[in-house]
Amino acid sequence: MNAQEPPLESTSPLTDALAQLDGAAQHLGISPGAHAMLAQPRRELMVSVPLRRDDGSTVVYSGYRVQHNFSRGPAKGGLRYSPSVDIDEIRALAMWMTWKCALVDVPYGGAKGGVAFEPRDHSKAELERVTRRYTSEILPIIGPDVDIPAPDMGTDEQTMAWIMDTYSSAQGHTVPGVVTGKPISLGGSLGRASATSRGVSHVALMAMASCGIDPTQASAAVQGFGKVGRDAARFLHDAGVAIQAVSDVDGAIFNGNGISISALGAHVDATGSVAGFDGAEDLDPADLLTAEVDALIPAALEGVITADNAHDIRAGIVVEGANGPTTNEADEILHDRGVLVVPDILANAGGVIVSYFEWVQANQAYQWRESEVNERLEERMTRAWYSVIEYASLHRLTYRQAATALAVQRVVEAHELRGLYP
Ligand code: NAD
Repeated sequence: MNAQEPPLESTSPLTDALAQLDGAAQHLGISPGAHAMLAQPRRELMVSVPLRRDDGSTVVYSGYRVQHNFSRGPAKGGLRYSPSVDIDEIRALAMWMTWKCALVDVPYGGAKGGVAFEPRDHSKAELERVTRRYTSEILPIIGPDVDIPAPDMGTDEQTMAWIMDTYSSAQGHTVPGVVTGKPISLGGSLGRASATSRGVSHVALMAMASCGIDPTQASAAVQGFGKVGRDAARFLHDAGVAIQAVSDVDGAIFNGNGISISALGAHVDATGSVAGFDGAEDLDPADLLTAEVDALIPAALEGVITADNAHDIRAGIVVEGANGPTTNEADEILHDRGVLVVPDILANAGGVIVSYFEWVQANQAYQWRESEVNERLEERMTRAWYSVIEYASLHRLTYRQAATALAVQRVVEAHELRGLYP
């Protein structure tokens, strides 16, 4: 991103995110200055995270926090623990967070953080030490009015509790609003844990309705059975959709009659993986993406639907539970083939919507009922869905182009109203 850095790979989440911004800037006719500001993160911090392992040895991991934009409010975005984490991935994810928050009209800018390591190879005590050390390194740039982390790949509500405690210890008092996705007993919101999945399922059902598909006659494949994929599969299953294929990092399974998601959940709780589930056959994980289903829900990694497999996708609808699962090249191929792609910044926005509700509840020191949370979530997802499909039809854009343009327009408007300091 700056002159000393090596050029970006021709396909990477950041190349795609910047190209999406270019498209929106051109469509909206925004000034070159505003465009240049939106192409750069406002602030980024790279930190070393030394960890004393349980065996007494020391390793050092790389950690990042990128704050892409603050024009509409404090930065907001998840924290990811994965070996794939690098600065460009975090930059792309931070930019997408800015668009997502603007699209669903929550008063935040975008941020993302990550530590490059494999959490599954670490004990709980090691995870706590990594989290507390990382938090103490980024402490000067986070806070309830500055930047509010939340769970993402490889992190969970326990991670958020450690961040809150580390931050609160430094402040000398408890600050529940510094993170969202906390345990309920520490001020987490009812409904937050399943909010992203509830939103994914809600838009998937709206997408099916828009294509004239009856969910009780429909089938779906879900890549990833973590915080997003697992409950998305459950909600769709509860709506009558046959979930025919599911995968995780260890393998994939298929049952043409539909997989029992509650039985699969019990198997995963007992074994840690979908592999070996006796209610389905094994499937080559690559074949999950090209399964003959009505809806494909990638809910694991970015860059899984590429120019190499986009021609073979047989689902008519792709609902992006993950961030950035479809490369720009693949997006064009899917569009040309008439596949409806519900973009990540719309499809998985349920998480940040209920994170916002959690932050509001923390600021008010008052807990809302779960039914209230779910109702408000559905209302906001529905509003965002219609704003995107109407804008897309008015301007003859894909849903991703429409969602990005709507979001960029809101951020530029906030930026222009505030003016440039000094
Ligand atoms: P998670 O760590 O809880 O789950 C990730 C799942 O993906 C696991 O089941 C893992 O086994 C699986 N997986 C990893 N590599 C895989 C592979 N190669 N093939 C198939 N499956 C694989 O993470 P999560 O929170 O569910 O996040 C998943 C995606 O959703 C990420 O892109 C994340 O940025 C996005 N997202 C998450 C939230 C949230 O609230 N957690 C909100 C918005 C978007």
